[in-house]
Amino acid sequence: MTTFADLGLRPELLRAVQDAEYDTPTPIQAQAIPVALRGTDLLGCAQTGTGKTAGFLLPILQRLAQGKRGRLRALVLTPTRELAAQIGESARTYGKYLPVRSTVVFGGVGLRPQEERLHQGVDLLIATPGRLLDHLERGNLEFSALEVLVLDEADRMLDMGFLPDVRRILRTLPTERQTLLFSATMPQEIEILAYQTLKTPVVIDVGRRATPVSTVRQVIYPVEPDQKRDLLCHLLKHGNMKHVLVFTRTKVRAERLARHLAQIGRRVEALHGDKSQGARTQALDGFRNGRVEVLVATDIAARGLDVEGISHVVNFDVPNIPEDYIHRIGRTARAEATGDAISLVSSEELDCVRAIEHLIGITIPRRLVVGFEPGAETVRRFTQQPAVSRAARVASGAIRHFGPRNRGNRHRAWA
Ligand code: AMP
Repeated sequence: MTTFADLGLRPELLRAVQDAEYDTPTPIQAQAIPVALRGTDLLGCAQTGTGKTAGFLLPILQRLAQGKRGRLRALVLTPTRELAAQIGESARTYGKYLPVRSTVVFGGVGLRPQEERLHQGVDLLIATPGRLLDHLERGNLEFSALEVLVLDEADRMLDMGFLPDVRRILRTLPTERQTLLFSATMPQEIEILAYQTLKTPVVIDVGRRATPVSTVRQVIYPVEPDQKRDLLCHLLKHGNMKHVLVFTRTKVRAERLARHLAQIGRRVEALHGDKSQGARTQALDGFRNGRVEVLVATDIAARGLDVEGISHVVNFDVPNIPEDYIHRIGRTARAEATGDAISLVSSEELDCVRAIEHLIGITIPRRLVVGFEPGAETVRRFTQQPAVSRAARVASGAIRHFGPRNRGNRHRAWA
């Protein structure tokens, strides 16, 4: 088995990795680090939770440890503030024994402190595209010394409409550079971007594309829309759910649900785009340190969220974009631990579920909870036209035959 020492990393980085208690490199790290150290371009098909951040940061830090300091030599572009902050944190963790200066810039907070840090000179910059452009326009950035560019979560940048910004940024960078592009899925626009920006890249595909982390146990609870809230409360009470991330479709629904859960005595916070940066950081910190047991979030706010030990991801609303389902459930079962993904699905959301099942290639098992069974019409819609063939459903474990032993179970198999 490959060890970190086999990958050709400097002793300072090996020590930092050891301090972080990483025993062995994850598959993306084992494959990407040697390629990136050689200076070759890379196309990494990997979702969050695979360890891709260290996969690009360790080689970058190794490069920055040599050569001139205080000039911007490496840039990481990432879609959200939370992700940028996390990568910045990782850069500090892995680079703690090296004299490399890194900083993070993202929107929603004042420009001034960021401006000051940039003027002091940084080697590595982690940025969201919009804020990076703000700094470029103000003359706070100079890319002539840039050697490495990372485009992180490229598919998400596309979804969030950032591709034009990314292209504007690309035009200002030296063409002679190393580029590492990571994306969980490969929509056509990203393939084109990769074709245009990467020079004879090595392609690394960890796991199948657009497939959820294999260790997540997935289940669907068919339910009437007006029963969702009570079903969630019931599951929170009886389901041994300790550290739960709940996704809603809108900010208003996140806020409303969080308020209700607080009223019934849950330690809960909401995380969405209408909250100030301070409130978002506080909610996240609380969730990380265990003060908050349930975090109710919208997709954009929770994008790339890296919190250890999330036991359950709950889709209070099914996402309209099937890939979002993969991103959401990737929040649990991080770095190969196991986790549960629960979706509360009303009959109006069935089409979205079918699109998700088509994307991931399995039918997610259905379960009923006694007392929360949906009405006859919902049952009829759920049992129409399965998305995947019966043979595939049996193979995936979606169809189980419960014998007499299981009668009386509170959680019953659906099919
Ligand atoms: P990422 O996919 O980069 O967001 O990383 C997911 C999580 O895995 C983070 O919490 C990392 O700290 C953790 N991690 C990264 N590399 C390793 C490793 N080699 N061994 C154990 N955990 C790791």
